[in-house]
Amino acid sequence: MRLVFIGPPGAGKGTQCKKLLELLQIPHLSTGEMLRTVKKQDSALSRWIASYIDAGKLAPDHLVMRIVAQRLQADDCKNGALFDGFPRTIIQAQLLDDYLAEQNLKLDMALELQVVEEELIQRLLKRAQIDGRVDDNYETIRERLHVFKTQTAPLTEYYAAQGKLETVDGMQSAEQVFDAIRVCVEKHLE
Ligand code: ADP
Repeated sequence: MRLVFIGPPGAGKGTQCKKLLELLQIPHLSTGEMLRTVKKQDSALSRWIASYIDAGKLAPDHLVMRIVAQRLQADDCKNGALFDGFPRTIIQAQLLDDYLAEQNLKLDMALELQVVEEELIQRLLKRAQIDGRVDDNYETIRERLHVFKTQTAPLTEYYAAQGKLETVDGMQSAEQVFDAIRVCVEKHLE
């Protein structure tokens, strides 16, 4: 199964991803992680990527697609993938659809995790204290939420139009959220 996981920062995507990966046994393609890996290197590209991540802005669509496409060529991605944090713009969604279509593949489902904004800010500030990610400060959090609302949230309509969207309420316990996700996944597995 190929599925796109959409949710604002702090929605609990990380926790649910882990559970989903165990259930589906497919590779985890997190563009946030991929970009942070490149960022750690010492190169012009890494400094360029850092300038986006550290400001809470999105990295350029074609660059992100190139990194994802490279990963998708690996053997373990033949039977499926969980796209986490990607696509983040309509353009990325179109680039991904085009890329998959070229290989006679397609996405099966887009999963949206919904959480209200005040709760997201609280959760992200708490996370900042625990793991000290540089982009988990108040200013960057606000920027990332704004970017999500304006650039990523419209993806739900894009996937709804394809009949692939499932929305889950992320304001429940992690177990309840996962139960709801499992029901959605089963619907699209056939
Ligand atoms: P979060 O969901 O908490 O914002 P991520 O780890 O998914 O965290 O992303 C961190 C940062 O990496 C983003 O704020 C952005 O700068 C960059 N990034 C990740 N995925 C993408 C993407 N698909 N397109 C553009 N930029 C991305």
